[in-house]
Amino acid sequence: MTSTIDTAALHDWISRFATAMTEKREWLTELDSAIGDADHGANMARGMAAVVEKLSGGAPDTIDDLLKGVGMTLVSSVGGASGPLYGTFFLRMGVTAGAVATLDGAGLAAALRAGLDGIVARGKPAAGDKTMYDAMAPAVDALDSALADGTDLGAALGGAADAAAAGRDATLPLVARKGRASYLGERSAGHLDPGAASTAILFETLAAAAQGAD
Ligand code: ADP
Ligand code: MG
Repeated sequence: MTSTIDTAALHDWISRFATAMTEKREWLTELDSAIGDADHGANMARGMAAVVEKLSGGAPDTIDDLLKGVGMTLVSSVGGASGPLYGTFFLRMGVTAGAVATLDGAGLAAALRAGLDGIVARGKPAAGDKTMYDAMAPAVDALDSALADGTDLGAALGGAADAAAAGRDATLPLVARKGRASYLGERSAGHLDPGAASTAILFETLAAAAQGAD
């Protein structure tokens, strides 16, 4: 049973996400080479390596310090669209979490929702535009409804990860309306969105960290 998540578990999330971005770098780049400029894997791996480097100097005690630091590092180390978008996500998430060392399910869901709202404020994506939003919005919605049904936080995050993966897969037939992929028009259909792919990994690693998976 998991009913709360603390700074150490969220730090573990960030570490897992960084490892996965290095491991999936080639795949994310391949996805971006089909409908973008072939740098999403490099952008995410570089940004998260900078985050790990910064955190190696000492882990913050509070969730806001941890997540705001992640966000600021991503904004300053990633040049592509994804840097400011993921950076804003983590910054807003940290601000909403506040100077606490533990969040319950509702607190974590509110922080994730604020992060999603930050991406919307920054990039103006809507559902079906074929962006990271198409993986993140269903994940945050799934988390809210599972928690409202009384589902344990670990299981609810597992459901959120499944929703993110389904959202990623649903970007395949879409025609991109935001970002570089939109320059391709109809030719963007038939390819997964790279940002939706990295976002599905973001939620998969969050569920794994919350559940203390190996
Ligand atoms: P760039 O497009 O600058 O090369 P990346 O390749 O790192 O940056 O990231 C591309 C991803 O960013 C896309 O796959 C998409 O998910 C996301 N993205 C791009 N523009 C937007 C936007 N306006 N709103 C939301 N997400 C976006
Ligand atoms: Mg790119």
